[in-house]
Amino acid sequence: MNKNNWESCVRKVVPYVPGEQPQFSDVIKLNTNENPYPPAPDVRKILDDFDCGRMRLYPDPDSTVLTDAIAKRYGLKSSQIFAGVGSDDVLAVAFMTFFGSDRPILFPDITYSFYDVWADVYRIPYRQIPLKSGFNIAPEDYVTENGGIVIANPNAPTGVAAPLEVIENIVKVNPDSVVIIDEAYVDFGGESCLPLIERYENLLVVQTFSKSRSMAGMRIGFAMGSEKLIKYMNDVKFSINSYTMNTLTQLCGAAAVKDEKYFNETVSKIIETRERSKKRLAELGFTFTDSKANFIFASPPKKSAQYVFDELKKRRIFVRYWNKPVICEYLRITVGTDEEMDKLFEALEDILNG
Ligand SMILES: *Cc1c(COP(=O)(O)O)cnc(C)c1O
Repeated sequence: MNKNNWESCVRKVVPYVPGEQPQFSDVIKLNTNENPYPPAPDVRKILDDFDCGRMRLYPDPDSTVLTDAIAKRYGLKSSQIFAGVGSDDVLAVAFMTFFGSDRPILFPDITYSFYDVWADVYRIPYRQIPLKSGFNIAPEDYVTENGGIVIANPNAPTGVAAPLEVIENIVKVNPDSVVIIDEAYVDFGGESCLPLIERYENLLVVQTFSKSRSMAGMRIGFAMGSEKLIKYMNDVKFSINSYTMNTLTQLCGAAAVKDEKYFNETVSKIIETRERSKKRLAELGFTFTDSKANFIFASPPKKSAQYVFDELKKRRIFVRYWNKPVICEYLRITVGTDEEMDKLFEALEDILNG
């Protein structure tokens, strides 16, 4: 049989499980926090005008058109921006770059479930800090020796946003480690800690085009921070793969970030629909957090979350459910269009009263 033991050399990992992407079209898809509206109109123009001949050439390894556009939008220097293939790529590079000590990194016990996976794959020790009641972060819990900190704000999957003082407290008391704030949902009503990067060289802010800019399929994420942090990240990126982001994506991203008006309109619409949806969910008897993201983390009355999840799926309405302690009583429902949400509420009424 197999005498060779090459499998003892394998880097074994338990991978992250992304939300389901059903391959049929007549579904109401409220399970992966995608934006229900299309990208900015100028993105269409980039696609129409793109010269296929350009594919012969490698892309710009620095993604200059994109980092310049992001820098301008946020009032920073291009040398303070790192662009990656989705913020998952950006966060993975940041973990590898900044979490290189043998001290444990810290993050909340309920948060984006990719953090422990990256820590595992890179062999970074970690400690999960229990959230307080109401899924809140207590900054004093982060006053302890550590090799780095990562916090999603607003948090996933709870939608709870920590005030800027809480984040600043954590950054201030940890000058010896890099603090990463994952702001994937900040545009929907959270308070960005971006203004703090001028004062704290060890603060890295990560954002994405996947949610508020309707471009999950293009894969664009970025980090903002001191020039020193960004340089260290680029050193690691250029040590693995220089050409991560393709030319077309760079151009589309730059076009999207320049259309502030469209961005504000679509984000406002989603916030409006979210607040209206909270009222409907309350009428139906759900309990939920005061989400500042493009989803609502809600616990159903009468029936279990698992049951409601299964029943919705039978009706081709997809939401997200985790069979894990504490959060197993909740569903994470992405905010779709008003029409999609109305269909959801109709189905929920049927399921809960049926
Ligand atoms: C969606 C999400 C990401 C990843 O976004 P991509 O840019 O699509 O890779 C990162 N962090 C959190 C908390 C998210 O919810």
